[in-house]
Amino acid sequence: MQVKCKLCGTTHEKTESYSPTGKSPYYCSKEEYEEEQVNQIMRKSTFTLLHDDILNYDERQIVVNKKLEQLGKSYGWEIVFKTFKHCENDIKFWIQQKNFDNEYLKINYIMAIITNHINDIYIKYKNEKRQKKENNIYIDIDILNDDFVPNSKNTNDISQFL
Ligand SMILES: [Zn+2]
Repeated sequence: MQVKCKLCGTTHEKTESYSPTGKSPYYCSKEEYEEEQVNQIMRKSTFTLLHDDILNYDERQIVVNKKLEQLGKSYGWEIVFKTFKHCENDIKFWIQQKNFDNEYLKINYIMAIITNHINDIYIKYKNEKRQKKENNIYIDIDILNDDFVPNSKNTNDISQFL
């Protein structure tokens, strides 16, 4: 039986796909599935930060923004969240200085700041990740030389993002 990956749409033989429950939805691999879990957590964190801390909304007010969803799709939510964190103080400062006729204009203004910074954050993060990878290779060689048995700590532990 052929099944379709929920995330990227690739079709696989059911036996070659991954599903945490054993039934639909299916994914290409466990890695892809877990990456998506982290992505969704980062999406939630982004909206919470914007909703609770930047806009100071209460639970009745919701934030809907097309541009924000687009950025999440193209950069991934981890990058979007990092950009918000990077710009948080600037945004808070500027939305206090300016008067907006409505919330729509205020959120558009915030999104303009985010859009201006996201590519820099993306490049910086990509370099950091590559650097980390290179460092890990170096450490691994050291470990081998010292005949050291590393423990099997799960490096995919999502707590590092929280
Ligand atoms: Zn896939």
